Amino acid sequence: MSRVYNFSAGPATLPEPVLQQAAEEMLDWRGTGMSVMEMSHRGKAFVSIAEQAEVDLRELLEVPDHYRVLFLQGGATAQFSAVPLNLLGSAGSVDYVNTGSWSKKAIAEARKYTSVNVVAEGGGGDPMSIPPQSEWQRDPDAAYLHYCANETITGVEFPEIPESGDVPLVSDMSSTFLSRPLDVSRFGVIYAGAQKNFGPAGLTVVIVRDDLLDRASDKVPAIWDYRRQAEADSMLNTPATYSWYIAGLVFQWLKREGGLKAMAERNKRKADMLYAAIDGSSLYRNPVDPAARSWMNVPFVLADDQLDGAFLSEAVDAGLHTLKGHRSVGGMRASIYNAMPESGVNALIDFMADFERRHG
Ligand SMILES: *Cc1c(COP(=O)(O)O)cnc(C)c1O
Repeated sequence: MSRVYNFSAGPATLPEPVLQQAAEEMLDWRGTGMSVMEMSHRGKAFVSIAEQAEVDLRELLEVPDHYRVLFLQGGATAQFSAVPLNLLGSAGSVDYVNTGSWSKKAIAEARKYTSVNVVAEGGGGDPMSIPPQSEWQRDPDAAYLHYCANETITGVEFPEIPESGDVPLVSDMSSTFLSRPLDVSRFGVIYAGAQKNFGPAGLTVVIVRDDLLDRASDKVPAIWDYRRQAEADSMLNTPATYSWYIAGLVFQWLKREGGLKAMAERNKRKADMLYAAIDGSSLYRNPVDPAARSWMNVPFVLADDQLDGAFLSEAVDAGLHTLKGHRSVGGMRASIYNAMPESGVNALIDFMADFERRHG
């Protein structure tokens, strides 16, 4: 067996010990004589898996008691609709920050239900940056303020949580969830698809503050109704059982690795090394304002895009896979989520230097 360094933005690399444990437990989960995939979601075995995952996630993120944790399907994309359907209430509009492609998609969905006030446009230009909060045009009566914490495609990440005052703050954290400690109490709703930083596709974690469970429109589909899902322990219908189980194994792995503070130190170190290598070269360039550079997704372009093909194929020969940038921006992108070891980032940096010596 040989595994490669996989820099995919998502579905993305998972911790090897988690995959090994899943393999060992595949045919017979702890004496039940069946795989987790084959279990009733209402049986004792799976309910214990589901509950343990929530306990571990709450511990990792220090989720306060007045927040509910939901394990839903539909990806972050379903939340683009679920958020306005659950939170609009009687308000006439919602506030969104636009920092890139995922923000735009969230805005387009919200526009189907209400009037959207875009408080600031960022993530464009060169370097790409996040407009300072002092310039945001906010509406004090907005139902909520939404932002995308990390734009996975362009690698633009908020270094800090924005201030939202009394307006509930909502964040799409898909590609940065669990990359560092987070003050959950600052938020109304946090959502994240699992397949970037903590599990397989098919699972979306939603963390919602209790007092926001009363605002849902009666048109909200039952499976996207936060209150109903909270009351049903996320089992209003059959949940994504296997993805939930794997996410639970990832939460336990994170605890063994020292929790989110240790993850943050490691992630910062990996990102700093890679950006330093890019900034120190004359072949590679990252187009993001250093203050808004992502720890998770590091896009870079080559000075001569004629070299892109050679870069990608030689990278594969060196065991470095899925470095092609998103089709909308071109160039390269290295996604270096929690499960990417420092040895993978070092191997990439060595390869990039070697490639530059030969082609630069
Ligand atoms: C991947 C991603 C999405 C979309 O996730 P799906 O699971 O495909 O719906 C949304 N937002 C961000 C920030 C992402 O990285």
